[in-house]
Amino acid sequence: MIEPSHYLSSIVKDLKPSGIRKFFDLAAGMEGVISLGVGEPDFVTPWNIREASILSLEQGYTSYTANAGLIELRNVISGYLKEVTSLDYDPKSELLVTVGASQALDIALRAIVNPGDEVIVIEPSFVSYASLVSLAGGVPVSVQTSGDMEFKLQPEELEKAITEKTKAIILCSPNNPTGTLLVKEELERLAEIIEKHDLIVISDEIYAELTYDDVYTSFVSIAGMAERTILISGFSKGFAMTGWRLGYVAAQPELLSAMLKIHQYSMMCAPTMAQFAAIEAMKNGKEDVLHMKKSYRQRRNLFVAALNEIGLTCHVPGGAFYAFPSIKKTNLTSEEFAEQLLIEEKVAVVPGSVFGECGEGFIRCSYATSLEQLQEALKRMQRFVQRRV
Ligand code: PLP
Repeated sequence: MIEPSHYLSSIVKDLKPSGIRKFFDLAAGMEGVISLGVGEPDFVTPWNIREASILSLEQGYTSYTANAGLIELRNVISGYLKEVTSLDYDPKSELLVTVGASQALDIALRAIVNPGDEVIVIEPSFVSYASLVSLAGGVPVSVQTSGDMEFKLQPEELEKAITEKTKAIILCSPNNPTGTLLVKEELERLAEIIEKHDLIVISDEIYAELTYDDVYTSFVSIAGMAERTILISGFSKGFAMTGWRLGYVAAQPELLSAMLKIHQYSMMCAPTMAQFAAIEAMKNGKEDVLHMKKSYRQRRNLFVAALNEIGLTCHVPGGAFYAFPSIKKTNLTSEEFAEQLLIEEKVAVVPGSVFGECGEGFIRCSYATSLEQLQEALKRMQRFVQRRV
């Protein structure tokens, strides 16, 4: 008999499983649950995008593509980024098509991190960041943000966390789990510190299309930042394509070719049929994206106003499809709140603590679900809160 744990990498042994999974597993065994837990659109991918993929299969495009992705796709991504950022990314040397933004994050970190390098992660954060830093051999350093400041990273907090070992920072705006959007002036203040300390930025802009009130500003369009920023985005959220597993990364040629090396050996290329779908999404997806965005915005307005009415104080999230209300009034921990709400009222939310220390006292609710379900969930949450305060 072997002792399997004896063979495991110590980094993997030390990784904690995602705290979100535990709640999915608990909810999966129950009937009548309204889930505000999952972080994905409730729309099916628009038909013309699906059709483009089906057509590619009919035409027999079933082999590998170039490692960096179909050149036609890189061309249209370049055009799309020009519209959003005003920058010209060279499709041949500055763009790479990946298996979701997830893979883009992984190879970006592996391309830049040496053992022991510190990478700053702003909390509350997407659950993958810190673990991906560790897997790349780095040390994640968390910087806390506060509900009182709508979870916006304060420049002085960033500066305090920087040491001689700091190599990079991961930014995410609009943010998962808080929905917080950083506007141009806020990004500029962060850029000053980033430049002063000569850091690389991994800017995860997967929710860029879902920005509701303020104008969305990409970090690469802040003066001087493009050359030191690895821009990560994809099709999962804005285009409702989570299952297609398609993302992309844009960066200056040397950084990009380092990522391409890892991608070549570990992935070869992103799925071909999904790449054909993505070409159609970039060329003709705009109206559908706007339609979905309008619908999320309507749900956000209703949901966030109602949360505040029932006493779960919540800032108005500027983007993505998450509300991150405070549950402090109930005197429960966020894990207790989520567990008891699920058991008593069959509403699934995610405890804020899974997104980092400062997420404690909050819960993440995804409002990417039907208005009827949201209204029913709110009724149940109100009953639950009334019993606690
Ligand atoms: N980045 C953030 C902030 C996310 O919330 C997610 C998914 O939830 C991802 C990246 C992963 O996206 P993809 O489906 O493109 O891998």
